[in-house]
Amino acid sequence: MTDMHHAFSRRHLLAASATAAAGGVLTGPPAQAKAPLSNTQAPYFYRFKIGSIEATVVSDGPLPLGEPSGTFLGVSKEEVAKMLSDNFLPSDTVTLEQNALVTNTGDRLVLFDNGMGAEKMFGPTTGKLVASLKQAGIDPKDIDALVITHAHIDHVGGMMGEGGARNFPNAQIYISQADHDFWTDEGKLGTPMKAFVEVARKNLGPNRDRIVFVKDGQEVVPGVQALAIPGHTIGHTMYMITSGEKSICNVGDLTHHQVLLLERPRLEFAYDTDPKQAAATRVKALDMLAAQKIPLLAYHFPWPGIGHVAKHGDGFRYFPSPMQMVL
Ligand SMILES: [Zn+2]
Repeated sequence: MTDMHHAFSRRHLLAASATAAAGGVLTGPPAQAKAPLSNTQAPYFYRFKIGSIEATVVSDGPLPLGEPSGTFLGVSKEEVAKMLSDNFLPSDTVTLEQNALVTNTGDRLVLFDNGMGAEKMFGPTTGKLVASLKQAGIDPKDIDALVITHAHIDHVGGMMGEGGARNFPNAQIYISQADHDFWTDEGKLGTPMKAFVEVARKNLGPNRDRIVFVKDGQEVVPGVQALAIPGHTIGHTMYMITSGEKSICNVGDLTHHQVLLLERPRLEFAYDTDPKQAAATRVKALDMLAAQKIPLLAYHFPWPGIGHVAKHGDGFRYFPSPMQMVL
């Protein structure tokens, strides 16, 4: 039987490579790889099926929040660090993904949320959405509908291009009136919400004539039902997408983190408009998804953000779905 400790001993490996580096007799001089290091990641899209709908997740790029204790509230810094390290995640910084969903029903192409656009509030890694769409073979001009969960900077920032042209020139836009009115309100420009309001105004303002306000329970486009989940923002909306027997719930920012805001769903999140209402809504909606075993697509979960939630103690656990590599 193999001595496991010896087989996986890091010290042993280090000693061997040191011998090699010193030109020792064990492994000889360092080998030359046949190919250089790529230094590039795979294309940032993932395709899967929901019944007969062809769905594609496209990314706007990672969104680094930095040190987590100022963002995830109601728990000590030490406890946040432990929850993260217990889940093999860095404990000193949190990075969210931005998973935007595209659905093609065969007669309509729908994009849910559209990333940070040119805004660099969270650094240089965001703003990849249009490039990701192109990698996925999707022309932004072909998008028929932009369905919006809420008017935050990382969900509507990509509507307008840098030069003031529309990134999705042929799309109708669907958003709740409550969120539209709240985040485009000129009266909030003198408040700490200023940066978010400016971006919402810049992206929603020029598109006012294309906006259709969605109501709770309404079927906004065929097979897509709006469900109000107020709290993170006052008009925050998730979308249940159904084809035949299959459904997936595009939950937007119902929960921002697969550990911190699932294991402890009542924690508060600094970017919530009404953190107490957000926590109550989070528990209620996650309870429903867990009880009905409906998969979710979470905008900020680890790429590509698709999985199930199940009740676990006082909170929930996330079970990422296996990738569908054959459609
Ligand atoms: Zn967000």
